[in-house]
Amino acid sequence: MTLKKKILIGYGVVFVLMGLVVVWAVTNLVSLGKASDAILRENYRSILAAENMVDTLERQDSAVLLILLGDAEKGIHQFRENESMFLQWLARAKDNITIQGEGELVQSIEANYAKYRREFSALTDFRDAAKPPLQVPYYQGTIFPLFAEVRDSCIRLRNLNEETMYAASLKAGSVANRAIWSTVFVATSALIVALVFSLLLAERIVRPLRRFMDASRKISGGDYAVQVPVETDDELGRLAGEFNQMAAQLGQYHEMNIEQIISEKNKGEAILSSIEDGLVVFDTDLKVTGINPAGRRMLDLEFAEVPTLACADILPTPNISEMIRRTVETGMQPDVPEEQRIITLQKGAISRHYLFSITPIRGRERNLSGIVLLLRDVTRLKEVERLKSEFIMAASHELRTPLTGMGMSIDLLLEHAAQGLSEKDRELLQAAHEEVHRMKALVNDLLDLSKIEAGRIELEFEQVPVHTLFEHVQEVFKGQAEMKHIRLTSELAVDLPEVRADANKVTWVLTNLISNALRYVRQDGQIQIAAKKIGPQVHLSVRDDGPGIPPEYQSKIFQKFVQVKGRQSGGTGLGLAICKEIVRAHGGAIWVESSPGQGSTFTFTLPVAQ
Ligand code: ADP
Repeated sequence: MTLKKKILIGYGVVFVLMGLVVVWAVTNLVSLGKASDAILRENYRSILAAENMVDTLERQDSAVLLILLGDAEKGIHQFRENESMFLQWLARAKDNITIQGEGELVQSIEANYAKYRREFSALTDFRDAAKPPLQVPYYQGTIFPLFAEVRDSCIRLRNLNEETMYAASLKAGSVANRAIWSTVFVATSALIVALVFSLLLAERIVRPLRRFMDASRKISGGDYAVQVPVETDDELGRLAGEFNQMAAQLGQYHEMNIEQIISEKNKGEAILSSIEDGLVVFDTDLKVTGINPAGRRMLDLEFAEVPTLACADILPTPNISEMIRRTVETGMQPDVPEEQRIITLQKGAISRHYLFSITPIRGRERNLSGIVLLLRDVTRLKEVERLKSEFIMAASHELRTPLTGMGMSIDLLLEHAAQGLSEKDRELLQAAHEEVHRMKALVNDLLDLSKIEAGRIELEFEQVPVHTLFEHVQEVFKGQAEMKHIRLTSELAVDLPEVRADANKVTWVLTNLISNALRYVRQDGQIQIAAKKIGPQVHLSVRDDGPGIPPEYQSKIFQKFVQVKGRQSGGTGLGLAICKEIVRAHGGAIWVESSPGQGSTFTFTLPVAQ
């Protein structure tokens, strides 16, 4: 049976009981009404008739006395008047004979009253025959006893009815009592039955619900083996079946998830322990929450208790701690060029170089939940770079001397022996002259670059006013610019502070940038050098209205030997790489902004002198 049916049947029973109580109460009310109606109907009218008969009879007796006193006319009038009223009430009493003995009484009243009337008529006849008036003894001996007889009968009729009425009202009282008690009894029984029924029904519904609650609590506590007994085939029974199925499925998912989590964790741990890069995880309070074996080795923390460590304790260089702190504050990965992301850690007499990167860990709501510091050992790379630079330095140094000799010999030949040579030989000699000069330039550039890379060039920092640098390069390039009809202008912000720089090296950078611009700008073009202060740095820029640099080259042209394809310039492809190294050695950055056909702007930064 469905739960709905059970509830409906439960309420149906309660309604039936309520109906029963109502029917019972109505029945009792009806029988009470009947009892009082019977009293009214059977006795009250007879009592009224009897009392009125006594009244009219007494007034008739007073009429007789009036006649005796000599006022015959008034007496007869009063008598007749009351006689007709008496007869009316007598007729009503006759109509309403309902109790035992009442009939005989009414008959005797009727018979005696008839005699009484006759006697009265005889009395009035005496008067008509002008006989001597009625004497008192006649009244006392004949009329009064009849009057008394009728009156007593009327009083008895009244008393008989009053007694019966009293008995009936006693009976009605007991009916009312019985009605009250029986109604109370039936209502109480109905209430008790309804209460018991409701309690049973509620218990039947609530008991399984409690079991569901217990089972849910157990499931949320991780006990997926819990089962709710299926006792009925109603909705609750079916729900229990579904619930058990759900618990079993949840258990399976849970098992699967745990297995997956454990295997993912093991996988993660295996990856972390097998990689050669050092990994350190920090929480947002900059406390270490995890570190892999390589990280421990690199930071000399083989036996340290990780949870007690803070960021500043394990990283000897304060700038990384600062960067990590800033990452926590901003939630953004720091944008620092690779060259500035190398730290050197000393382990005894050996120093090792590490390239580090800082990555924020994001939680579910994309909020920051930690930081990962990755350390890659670049000691070997650095060493290779150093060896390479040293080799290039040595090779270019060695090449420079014979190239200078060759260049001088070819120059001398061109100067003195050219006249004796054929046209073809002269052309060959001229080509050799150009190639030797190109090679000399290349070797010089390579030498300069490798010296800077190897840190062999000492920078002589001083406070330099930017305008002197600008005036110098403008002076140097004045002639070349005029030859190509190019306008070379400069723009300096007012109150520009001095910069902390090596004036010669910065001139080198400016020279390189301006000579590139002069090379690519067409006749009647424009080159503008400008400087302005932004934050703690001065931005120096060289802008031209030349062909511009394609977007795919813009990040690459600062690398060695990178040149834009299809633009034969006769350069070595090393100029911008040298500029980058010089600017980097000053703690600045260099970049280009350009769109093809719209010219290019090369900008580099230098620190403001303190
Ligand atoms: P190069 O000796 O070839 O000039 P650089 O390193 O100075 O070498 O420049 C690299 C390349 O960048 C150049 O070959 C050229 O293609 C491009 N380049 C540099 N400056 C400019 C400029 N002002 N306008 C257009 N292209 C430029």
